[in-house]
Amino acid sequence: MKLSNTLVWTLADAFVTAHSSSQHMNAMQNRRLNDVVHHARSSSPLYRHLYQGVSQQIENIAQLPSIDKATLMGSFDDWVTDPEVRLQDLKVNFLSNLDRVGDLYLGKYMVMTTSGTTGEPAILLQDDQSWNVINVMGRTRPQAIVTRINLVQLARRGMRTAALFATGGHYGAAALTERVRRFSPLIAERTRVISVLRPIDEIVAELNSFNPTLISGYPSIISLLAVEQRSGRLRITPLHILCAGELLTPSTRQEINEVFNCPLTEGYAATEVPALAMQCEEYRFHVNADWYVLEAVDENHLPVPAGVESATVLVTNLANRVQPIIRYDLGDRVTMFPDTCACGSVLPSLSVEGRTNDVLELEGTDEHRVSILPLALGSVIEETPGVHRYQVVGRDPHGISIRLDVDAGFEKPKVEHEVSERVRRFFDSLGVSAVNIFHDSASPQQDQGSGKLRQVIRG
Ligand SMILES: [Zn+2]
Repeated sequence: MKLSNTLVWTLADAFVTAHSSSQHMNAMQNRRLNDVVHHARSSSPLYRHLYQGVSQQIENIAQLPSIDKATLMGSFDDWVTDPEVRLQDLKVNFLSNLDRVGDLYLGKYMVMTTSGTTGEPAILLQDDQSWNVINVMGRTRPQAIVTRINLVQLARRGMRTAALFATGGHYGAAALTERVRRFSPLIAERTRVISVLRPIDEIVAELNSFNPTLISGYPSIISLLAVEQRSGRLRITPLHILCAGELLTPSTRQEINEVFNCPLTEGYAATEVPALAMQCEEYRFHVNADWYVLEAVDENHLPVPAGVESATVLVTNLANRVQPIIRYDLGDRVTMFPDTCACGSVLPSLSVEGRTNDVLELEGTDEHRVSILPLALGSVIEETPGVHRYQVVGRDPHGISIRLDVDAGFEKPKVEHEVSERVRRFFDSLGVSAVNIFHDSASPQQDQGSGKLRQVIRG
């Protein structure tokens, strides 16, 4: 892999900052915030309009208005700071072509998409500096992942990475992994993206033959692999497991630990803020505060004190210039810790209480409960032609009901039938065969409290 000067600089800067004081961290954060705001004002028509009347020098981030996904995606061409980036061109010439997953758009921007709450996915471009920060933060914070891996074993057995995520689109984690594979044929040979939408038997067979030493994936698929390993069908000995996309429940973490007996690291991030926080050995998430701002706030977007659960979080990406993300409502509920973490990190720490969507627990074979990841289920439904908005309600382990709004020109019964077929195939691949799939004639319902549409909920 070629090391660019900016990557080396980001690495050195991250090391120095991690060993500095919190005052130094705050000063650096404020300087970078002012740079990002200045750039957004001068180059993004959307932010220029939004920040009319806001003072030029930002002392406190709360001086700035918050923003949400619908507003940004609704004004995409005015949001981006590079006039060459146009939504229509991006959709027609890039996103519709799955051979281009992991390529650079216009030769300079990494592209990732995320599930949408309005039927339309968010499309996120990352520039060079954002890409550097993703790589550096993901590997060095809060403790370097390399210090947690048995390096003697890794050297002896070789590095082979299996990334288990949803494919079939430019989804965040899969697109990132494909981008890494582009760096050299050697890395490409040793890194595989395995779709969680494939039947579990196929996934097990591929993992047995590939014999990965490093694994990353959604908690639900890693949990399923633990079941396969316990049964003896899967026979792998990973040296490290990285979970991302959703949160592990304590029981799932324990199960994975018992079966694989190797270090397990969890990330807390979103495509808008791709390297937001990583978990330390004390099971706290530490925010990479030199490149991301995380504010725990109430429903009126006013700060909540440490120790109190927030209604949502506002996040700011200080690394990415092409598509400024400034005080963006992420929708998760978190609690900041008031004290310094025992791991010694100066980075602010938090626990995540809940994300926008729920993980469903459905009845699998042998009375084993299977966790269904909302991202994976959502991608199966969203990819069905005619689906405009959807909501899945899991009432009990034996059945789900689906509410759909369909696009103009589509017949709802036909779309419902196609969605049922696709979800059935997906469930079969996970060993969830005895679950009933119902359709509810109602439209997706917004949450009474937050007004947000949660796409996958436990009823
Ligand atoms: Zn810690």
